[in-house]
Amino acid sequence: MGNILYLVIPCYNEEEVLSETARRLENKMKCLAEGKKIDEKSRVIFVNDGSKDKTWKIIQELHQKNKLFAGINLSKNRGHQNALLAGLMTAKEYADMVISMDADLQDDINAIDEMIDKYAQGKDIVYGVRSSRQKDTFFKKATAEGFYKTMNMMGANTVYNHADYRLMSKRALEGLAQYGEVNLFLRGIVPMIGYPTDVVYYERGERFAGESKYPLKKMLSFAVEGITSLSTKPLRMITLLGFFIFIVSIGMLIYSLFRHFTGATIVGWTTLMVSLWAIGGLILLSLGVVGEYIGKIYLETKARPRYIIEQFLNEDN
Ligand code: UDP
Ligand code: MG
Repeated sequence: MGNILYLVIPCYNEEEVLSETARRLENKMKCLAEGKKIDEKSRVIFVNDGSKDKTWKIIQELHQKNKLFAGINLSKNRGHQNALLAGLMTAKEYADMVISMDADLQDDINAIDEMIDKYAQGKDIVYGVRSSRQKDTFFKKATAEGFYKTMNMMGANTVYNHADYRLMSKRALEGLAQYGEVNLFLRGIVPMIGYPTDVVYYERGERFAGESKYPLKKMLSFAVEGITSLSTKPLRMITLLGFFIFIVSIGMLIYSLFRHFTGATIVGWTTLMVSLWAIGGLILLSLGVVGEYIGKIYLETKARPRYIIEQFLNEDN
């Protein structure tokens, strides 16, 4: 098992943090190489996600000075997930293991050691999980935790309190490459790949400079994106709602007939009440049925791999 490590770091308008990030990572990589934990051919890849500031210029300078640093320049801003994917897919050609992390180093880089140890023990995917959110503001904490819970409720299964700080082996990345979907939500897809996995806990710090590139608006669209690109559960919910209202309509039928025969209604009330509920329920139910089929078509168009073979035992091997 080789141990060439590539770090993949998406950067969007990160001029304020890049130099310091590079300095810290250089030290880290040096320590790891000296401790024989990683190969000399290991690299740090910065992916410039169409930044409007000097980010790409800084990456070019870093590469000039030290071959440890590599860079990928995207043609325009494609968002964090796509930038990350570009880096991962490029790195998988050269690396045995790849760790993805943010440019602001909010994720403790000392967890890398433990991730590599787990990789050496045969784990293919090691998730970095935040042990607590003490340093987050109340608002960020509440929205982020609500985010994970809603996601799971809606059928998008993700690892709780895990962002995109994770180690993936070459074969796990090759598995990922088989997912041909355009709307890619990595946190939901990676657990689908399988293979032995593990987690590493770490404390998440604050951004040491610059500001968050994930304002509330982006976070909300990220959540909607995650749910709608991973699962068809919202469609199933329409079916359930239709079914529920249809049941209610039967109750209303009985109630209205009761009122009708006890003579406590005006003419026409019974027919109106009953048809209102029954038709409403039937419409929702049919909509849900149509939705079920659309959901199937949707999942088919994603052409996800149906299996990934981990091992093949064969006489001639
Ligand atoms: N990022 C990116 N493209 C974008 C937005 C963000 O590549 O369109 C990168 C950003 O440079 C950083 C990472 O995604 O490396 C996470 O962003 P940030 O730290 O601002 O998010 P937060 O930690 O506030 O959730
Ligand atoms: Mg951050």
